[in-house]
Amino acid sequence: MEDRVLCLKRPAWEAAWQHLRAVAPAEGVGLFVGRDGCGEEAWPLPNVHSSPEVGYRADPGALLAALRRADERGLLVVALFHSHPAGLARPSATDRREAYWRVPYVIFGLAEGRARAYLLPEGREIPIEVTP
Ligand SMILES: [Zn+2]
Repeated sequence: MEDRVLCLKRPAWEAAWQHLRAVAPAEGVGLFVGRDGCGEEAWPLPNVHSSPEVGYRADPGALLAALRRADERGLLVVALFHSHPAGLARPSATDRREAYWRVPYVIFGLAEGRARAYLLPEGREIPIEVTP
């Protein structure tokens, strides 16, 4: 993805915050899906990591189902998101090592009340633009 800005619709942005605060102190994970490069909906996924307070792993079956649902509706995955419940909105070494997707990774640092997006593993920040 070559986008210089990650566009997220406000309801999707707020839904992600709400979900991630609700599942804290566990890390939360999910997808932003939409069209035309703008995330219109936040789809949380179950975190099946063996230590969910320090890591995340989206449930593979739920991820597959979400990808199918997106495809059926003509939506694309525009970003992934996960939270650092007690940490900052910065990619961890694990986040970089396990990066796989070419869409931005949005990291919600609940302790600082801030979210930032990055292309991983390289770590280039993509500014987030929340739109109505
Ligand atoms: Zn992380």
